[in-house]
Amino acid sequence: MSETLDVVEPATEAVLAQIPRAGAEEADAAVARAKAAFPAWRAVAPADRARLLHRLADALAEHHEELSVLEARNAGKPIADARGEIGMVVDTFRYYAAAPERLLGDTIPVPGGLGFTVREPLGVVALITPWNFPLTIAAWKLAPALAAGNTVVLKPAELTPLTAIEFERIALEAGLPEGVVNVVAGPGRECGRRLVEHPDVAKVAFTGSTEVGRSIAAAAAGTIKRVTLELGGKSANIVFADADLERAAAVAPLAVFGNAGQDCCARSRILVESSALDRFMDALEESVGALRVGDPLAEGTQMGPLISAGQRETVASFVNGDAPVAIRGEAPEGPGFWFAPTVLCPVSNDDRAAREEIFGPVAVVIPFRDEAEAVALANDSIYGLSGSIWTRDGAKALRVARSLESGVLSINSNTSVRVSTPFGGFKQSGYGRELGPHATDAYTEVKTIYYATDSQ
Ligand code: NAD
Repeated sequence: MSETLDVVEPATEAVLAQIPRAGAEEADAAVARAKAAFPAWRAVAPADRARLLHRLADALAEHHEELSVLEARNAGKPIADARGEIGMVVDTFRYYAAAPERLLGDTIPVPGGLGFTVREPLGVVALITPWNFPLTIAAWKLAPALAAGNTVVLKPAELTPLTAIEFERIALEAGLPEGVVNVVAGPGRECGRRLVEHPDVAKVAFTGSTEVGRSIAAAAAGTIKRVTLELGGKSANIVFADADLERAAAVAPLAVFGNAGQDCCARSRILVESSALDRFMDALEESVGALRVGDPLAEGTQMGPLISAGQRETVASFVNGDAPVAIRGEAPEGPGFWFAPTVLCPVSNDDRAAREEIFGPVAVVIPFRDEAEAVALANDSIYGLSGSIWTRDGAKALRVARSLESGVLSINSNTSVRVSTPFGGFKQSGYGRELGPHATDAYTEVKTIYYATDSQ
């Protein structure tokens, strides 16, 4: 088997870089380095660990533009989006730089003495990440894991490993000790699988497809590893007739075509109240037509290509089914894994395009009669990650939000991911939460200590 991995630029189909291909042996070596570095790293005083994380955030900020260009080229994402994502990486490290000094426990009255809890780091943590938001999703795991005193082995997706490799270099440059951050870029079935089964790995934090997440949870059971899973989605964008329809239609395209639809939070099922369907579709057609699809490095581009030829084939298979194509946007010809933004309407919630995660720029529009039907349709999915509710009726918005089986919702907006608020799924979208004030809980064990104060 080849010793190197070709990393392809999706907008040109040219090889962007060749990197060493990590297999099981490299995974073992990385775990050994992380294990050796753990005792010293956990012993670093909290304020010093905080200072190092701030230095890392500063170093990442200094490399902001170069990381953004690398991410844009490797993942095929618009440069403006890449800049925003690398900005979030910096913000994530700053946010969790405060965490080492806030790993608090409880003091609990018990007979004969004092009970209290402390939070202990887990040890070596494996972080396995997808290709759609490469360094951003890695940062959601890296920052709280390191803040809590763990050492890490990060396995990025083999299609988009370049910013992770740069990250390892920048972490050393910022002063993190050798072995605290280890990156292994290799195939999931070999390198990733080895990390999941490795007896010296205490936890796997995984983001990726539900199918691979299921196999990771099963493999991790062998060593009773802690696992958190951020998986797929098929989120609903519920538009009631009393909403600001022009605004809802204006932002709906980027809620599903942002990152070329390769977004676990994509609101790819647009549920529209029947009485407003025609008005909404007219406005949607206009906003899809206005989307700028093209060269990821050109300023102003809003949508780039798909990640690979295989992904394009999968996405195309959803467009030739029973559901009629209502809107088709533009996409460049020629080299690059391009796919035009596409809206299918009307679609039944039982259609394959409404049930499966397409992970491409294809949205389905499903009409509904009333609030009860909207909630029932939205919840009729194996997934429960994200979603939006558009209405001017505040009580209805909150009622629907409370009824939806979904981890992260937004009302009159299509954004729901913030560094300071928890993110994660219900149902087969996974378990565990990243981001927000409690993310370090997932990288620590609670230890209870009883101190006897009475003589017997
Ligand atoms: P994937 O599941 O194919 O791969 C994810 C990672 O797992 C990659 O690094 C891959 O190499 C590795 N992997 C594959 N098989 C493995 C195995 N047997 N053992 C260990 N590791 C293995 O996902 P992808 O195609 O890279 O990403 C797209 C998927 O990720 C979509 O389903 C999307 O919804 C999901 N996703 C979820 C979130 C979220 O936060 N919920 C965020 C982004 C993406």
